[in-house]
Amino acid sequence: MSIAPDTTVVLGHRFATELPELAVRWQAESAPEPRLLVLNESLAVELGLDPAWLRSPEGICLLVGTRVPADAQPVAQGYAGHQFGGWVPRLGDGRALLLGELVDPTQRLRDLHLKGSGRTPFARGGDGLAAVGPMLREYLVSEAMHALSIPTTRSLSVVATGRPVQRETTLDGAVLARIAASHLRVGSFQYVAAAGDLEVLRRLADHAISRHHPAAAQAENPYLALLDSVITAQADLIARWMLVGFVHGVMNTDNTTISGETIDYGPCAFMDTFDPKTVFSSIDSWGRYAYGNQPAIAVWNLTRLAEALLPLIADDEEQAVALATASLQDFPQLYTAAWSAGMRHKLGLGDGIDDTVAQQLVDELLELLVNERADYTSFFRRLARGVVEPAFEAWAARWRSLDPDLAAMQHVNPVYIPRNHLVEEALAAATAGDMEPFHRLLEVIGSPYDERPGFERYADPAPEDFGSCFQTFCGT
Ligand code: AMP
Ligand code: MG
Repeated sequence: MSIAPDTTVVLGHRFATELPELAVRWQAESAPEPRLLVLNESLAVELGLDPAWLRSPEGICLLVGTRVPADAQPVAQGYAGHQFGGWVPRLGDGRALLLGELVDPTQRLRDLHLKGSGRTPFARGGDGLAAVGPMLREYLVSEAMHALSIPTTRSLSVVATGRPVQRETTLDGAVLARIAASHLRVGSFQYVAAAGDLEVLRRLADHAISRHHPAAAQAENPYLALLDSVITAQADLIARWMLVGFVHGVMNTDNTTISGETIDYGPCAFMDTFDPKTVFSSIDSWGRYAYGNQPAIAVWNLTRLAEALLPLIADDEEQAVALATASLQDFPQLYTAAWSAGMRHKLGLGDGIDDTVAQQLVDELLELLVNERADYTSFFRRLARGVVEPAFEAWAARWRSLDPDLAAMQHVNPVYIPRNHLVEEALAAATAGDMEPFHRLLEVIGSPYDERPGFERYADPAPEDFGSCFQTFCGT
């Protein structure tokens, strides 16, 4: 790793310094032939980085981690996690690196993190690498989520490395540069709690409070307030996923952030036909992470966080359990409030309409959507133009009698989401060397509410021959 004296990029190392127990100093593997496939210029500007410099050979070396500022301290982060319910005490960044923290022009700390940057001491049997397709997929879906106002990690770039990656076939390697409020996860707390060092646990919790939930520091019980803040952030996040029909696919505790951002776009997908049982991930044969299960799984994951925090919440374990349990019991109400408010917006219902009336209307609609096998996204968008299929007429008559605001509905019901068939089409072209369809789709999903002539096919559900059994694979 050489030093880049010509860059003005400053990378902090607050995580590495404050939590050395969770950090292993490491460096990225060389990239034989780095080639920038996509750069998020607006995000770069938002971070105070110069897009033109990032496109230069030195900039690209930063984006693959082979040249970092002199004072940077890249680390692989340690964390544990429950994967599909099974405890794994040592996961960690097997193929990722936290290069450091950027301070954006609003003084916010943002992690600059790489995925696919080579094996680390956490790699276990893995090769430490990532392929072009899955990294472009994360880029596309995370940017779509951002455009839909859903808290998420962002994608700064994907660079093809020129290194072959062996999967079922030989693929081109790539490194994704990811930006996050932080990479602290429930699994970070589990890792420290399992090691049993209370001082480190307190330091981790203080770090999390300071970075993400500063108001908790003023609370009578700051660590209980931290738990409450994460519960609130996650309830809000999951409600937003549900409202757009997003299925994460791997809601393991190591993929559940403390910040409340969506993280790790593996086998995720947007649901086409409305069905709570929808699962895309090829490895989720039990439907643990099905669309309709996501709120319950969030509670399960937050319960693991609560367990890890118990020794900080109260000295007396029974008392700690009682406090944490009461906090966890708030989730359903927080989630339902966020979801119901979102549904009211989707249906254009004003504040004057009674909750019970709105609720009943929503419940009936969900049942109809399932029975009619309606395309979730286009149903709401068409409704916003006052268009419904005959099967929905009786329901729609009652909805119309509530005087919905159709114009407002156009601002919350997307026309364009990264539909699976479009994503697959863009990635197939990209891996064959043609980035044009990828950039076009990126542009479309970047303004999801803004219906544009000539883009009709991006609004349409999958063609019949795409099949209804679309699967996503974890082999990323
Ligand atoms: P994920 O499913 O991407 O959240 O990853 C789960 C765990 O597997 C994390 O500890 C990753 O670092 C690790 N992992 C996934 N793929 C690889 C790989 N190709 N090489 C090394 N570790 C990996
Ligand atoms: Mg992960």
